[in-house]
Amino acid sequence: MKTELVIDLEAEKQEILKRYRALLRASKSTLQKGDKKEIRKAFDMALESHKDMRRKSGEPYIYHPIAVAQIAAEEIGLGTTSIVCALLHDVVEDTDITLEDIEREFGKKTAKIIDGLTKISGVFDTNSSLQAENFRKMLLTLADDVRVILIKLADRLHNMRTMDFMPRHKQLKIASETIYLYAPLAHRLGLYAVKSELEDLSMKYLDPDTYKFIAKKLNEKKTERAMFIKKFVEPIDEIVHDQGLVADVYGRPKSIHSIWNKMKKKNIPFEEVYDLFAIRIILDSAPENEKADCWKAYSIVTDLYRPNPDRLRDWVSSPKGNGYESLHTTVMGPRGQWVEVQIRTQRMNEIAEKGFAAHWKYKESSNDNGLDQWIQKVREMLSNPEANALDFLDDFKMNLFSDEIFIFTPKGALIQLPLGATALDFAFEIHTGVGATCIGAKVNHKLVPISYKLQNGDQVEIITSNKQTPKEDWLNVVVTAKAKSKIKSSLKEEKRKIADNGKEILERKLKSLKITYNTDNLQKLSYFFKLPSTQELFVNVALGKIELKDIKEYLNTEKEVESRGPERPENLTVDMVKSKMKNADGDILLIGEDLQKIDYTLAACCNPIPGDDVFGFVTVSEGIKIHRTNCPNATQLMSNYGYRVVKAKWNKQQELTFLTGLRIVGIDDVGLINNITRVISTDFKVNMRSITVDTNEGIFDGSIMIFVNDTEHLENLINNLLKVRGVTGVTRFDA
Ligand code: MN
Repeated sequence: MKTELVIDLEAEKQEILKRYRALLRASKSTLQKGDKKEIRKAFDMALESHKDMRRKSGEPYIYHPIAVAQIAAEEIGLGTTSIVCALLHDVVEDTDITLEDIEREFGKKTAKIIDGLTKISGVFDTNSSLQAENFRKMLLTLADDVRVILIKLADRLHNMRTMDFMPRHKQLKIASETIYLYAPLAHRLGLYAVKSELEDLSMKYLDPDTYKFIAKKLNEKKTERAMFIKKFVEPIDEIVHDQGLVADVYGRPKSIHSIWNKMKKKNIPFEEVYDLFAIRIILDSAPENEKADCWKAYSIVTDLYRPNPDRLRDWVSSPKGNGYESLHTTVMGPRGQWVEVQIRTQRMNEIAEKGFAAHWKYKESSNDNGLDQWIQKVREMLSNPEANALDFLDDFKMNLFSDEIFIFTPKGALIQLPLGATALDFAFEIHTGVGATCIGAKVNHKLVPISYKLQNGDQVEIITSNKQTPKEDWLNVVVTAKAKSKIKSSLKEEKRKIADNGKEILERKLKSLKITYNTDNLQKLSYFFKLPSTQELFVNVALGKIELKDIKEYLNTEKEVESRGPERPENLTVDMVKSKMKNADGDILLIGEDLQKIDYTLAACCNPIPGDDVFGFVTVSEGIKIHRTNCPNATQLMSNYGYRVVKAKWNKQQELTFLTGLRIVGIDDVGLINNITRVISTDFKVNMRSITVDTNEGIFDGSIMIFVNDTEHLENLINNLLKVRGVTGVTRFDA
């Protein structure tokens, strides 16, 4: 059956103009003479070239570039060039317009940015290559002009906001990439608002049940919370104004994603998360009074409420690397509950919310720009062409997430390093040569080993020796991407030298045994000694791990090997799986269907059961693994190896049972274990595999592994267990 879509073209035209005018209003503050004309020209070009295109929702396509431009202007604070680029970001990719057309109409700079946007638009869309390599390319454009990434983030944010019309598997893929890369990137560029929204939207698609659960809980106590905030804020407001400060004091809810993170990290139920909101004091200060005003406000707050001395964070004196400046403290509220208070000026607040772009605007006034340093670091990392793309991505991502510490050189210069950095990281940060020859360090004048973990404020002097060279285990000592990549390339170089040496030795040995030195024989030898490459073979020969007698042994067995043929495991390829799946059900893997001759196993990391939202993942040597979409490993798998993911769904059947785990907590009572096991095995006739129970001062904490049919079965069981007297909580756990 076909549903006819009725479109009122005249009404649509009005709506497009309305949205365009809203965009102009949003960009008003940055507009200079002639800018409006440029934006109009870009809008007309986009409108004309996208005129026959529609989005999945049925809306005119032009809504999308207008929205992206509006986000760029309003939420990221970008100017006219970026607005023009945002309006045109999809035309080269999707329409007849060429880069030359853009350059002719809008100039070189605009064409270059759009070229960057077009190049990275394919970053995650390909199914053929590793996304990691593409991400590296994307960062190359960042080092070129950071606006490319900022507009790309605006594009991603709008796509995430309007993803309801996408098919489920696309939603999962896009949401995974977003949480894996785009949200950390937004964080690193200081775009906190964009980052939180991307995280929340990802969670909404990746883990809809938990998302809805927390949203509902938050909504239930909304009025109560508003009352509490009002009472908490009132006295602060009053005294702040009495002391002549101009300030806005308000409460701000934390994001659903950050609440969920806290629940997981601390293993606590929603009810025990105390910081569901933070109090903000935004001061209107003259530039020369900023720091003093922040501390004045801090003093007012801590006179009213007792602060937790461990929770004071001063990013006013030393801003974070992404430009974030703020004073954070946690104080005891009137009802015995900890409340986080964030104090900053309007300028600092704009940087906190809009990040990089706002930073640019204030650049003259701030003397040290951490973000420039960071982009410089990205450039350095990218300039190492030998780095393996996936390693690079992992190292880079770790650096995106980590917090910073501040370290001083002997002369008092400030160096920023990620939390957990060691003396060796510091050495590489100073200079590659210093790192490569580092044998130890003096931290605050005391001698320490290279693996010493640096603390905020340490003063470090590196000790070197020209006899020192980088070692393999140094890779476990350092955390910065820079040090890692320098060590790796130095080890590689070292290995190459050893291999060259081994190659000569092996040539001589083979000659003496009358074996021809050729690729075929080298491969046979590598295979015989179970080595992954001929380079490894050379290295082993050079290091004396393979000697003449070993090669003689090879000669003896060679005949036998020949007749058996090489013993290689048959690797499952994605294409093989997909061609096997080409049957009545299209390309969906039906779990529990034994007509399909495809081997699959349920992943042990998340123990999926029927009813769970799942996907199949084609592993290199272990067949297909079925994971839950909210599995802790899912985002990493889907965003890095999208092409290995196959759609999967449960075949309706009741005969099979699946292993899952339940954590039961409660007040220990005589007969509690009996009552629990009675519900499980007698009432529900469910088999238990194991049960471990911990009782501590009257608190019961048990883990039970059971076999259930599906999620509905499990839910019923959980509900009945909750009815057992003494039981206060039952949750499913992974692995
Ligand atoms: Mn787009």
